[in-house]
Amino acid sequence: MIPRFAHRRPRSLADAFAAFDAAGGDCAWYAGGTELLAVMKMGFAQFGTLIDLKSVPELGGISADADGALRIGATVTHREIERSPHVLRHLPGLAALEREVANIRVRNTGTLGGNLAFAEPHSDPATFLLACDARVELAGPAGAREMAIDELIVGPLTTSREADELLVAIRVPAPAAGEGRAYAKLAFFERPAASVGVRVRVVDGAIADATVAVGSLTDLPIVLPAAGAALAGLPAEPAALDAGLGAAIAVLGEIDAIPDHNGSADYKRHLAGILLGRAVTQAVEEARAHA
Ligand SMILES: Cc1cc2nc3c(=O)[nH]c(=O)nc-3n(C[C@H](O)[C@H](O)[C@H](O)COP(=O)(O)OP(=O)(O)OC[C@H]3O[C@@H](n4cnc5c(N)ncnc54)[C@H](O)[C@@H]3O)c2cc1C
Repeated sequence: MIPRFAHRRPRSLADAFAAFDAAGGDCAWYAGGTELLAVMKMGFAQFGTLIDLKSVPELGGISADADGALRIGATVTHREIERSPHVLRHLPGLAALEREVANIRVRNTGTLGGNLAFAEPHSDPATFLLACDARVELAGPAGAREMAIDELIVGPLTTSREADELLVAIRVPAPAAGEGRAYAKLAFFERPAASVGVRVRVVDGAIADATVAVGSLTDLPIVLPAAGAALAGLPAEPAALDAGLGAAIAVLGEIDAIPDHNGSADYKRHLAGILLGRAVTQAVEEARAHA
């Protein structure tokens, strides 16, 4: 059972910071509550006040800039992202990812901001957004700032966000000419067992540069620069890709993976290698469409 707590529902960012200040620090932000309320029910954390962010307009909405960059408000739910015309048009890989997050009940209430702020190591969006060079906008009483995903998520269930700071939005740059982005995961239970996000840029029929991010193998999503470098130069043809992925897969084979209920470290590294092939193939397909 959750001990009694006060509930505040601010209607603006300024009201949200005032509510935090009034609670004297004994409070937590929440949006969908799918993680926070579970943690409180299990007795791992208690707060005198919960501050509900869903009515703060500055934290909502999905928009696309004229240059194709996508901006997703922190309180936008997985379900809204999955169905958003802006996301389907500008970052279809994210819409596809969101369709496979959790179950419909969690997708209807859980938010992208809550997912990233909770920093659960088995997050789908964190891994993909890392590969896409997304940036997170934060705001607090001291002002606004922005940072990359790997500057925000610094450990399991740990972010560099100050307690009184809010995630406001996530901004994903538009794809460059010839760029494609894709995500592949395997999940045996509700959260991914292993996942790979890939960004490639194809020039003159070959991969010019690439980013590879891996999730669920270690205690936070990671970018593997050596895997990205190993993809550079590969011909952007399915048969040639299959034959040429060995060096990049070998980099994934060096990850100090953590065994868990999904399998041993070796098994999780093996899964990541398979997923890399799928994600690269899809990213190259998207890149060709953007050529
Ligand atoms: C059964 C189940 C299955 C799941 N499966 C998956 C899966 O397959 N893939 C996956 O990626 N995720 C999965 N999840 C996680 C799910 O995506 C998250 O629970 C959800 O997105 C969290 O959002 P929320 O709004 O409910 O967060 P909340 O529970 O409201 O908040 C979570 C944390 O973030 C903080 N917070 C929330 N919003 C903000 C903000 N704007 N600024 C600052 N701090 C904030 C809160 O203080 C709290 O610490 C699963 C969860 C459940 C319960």
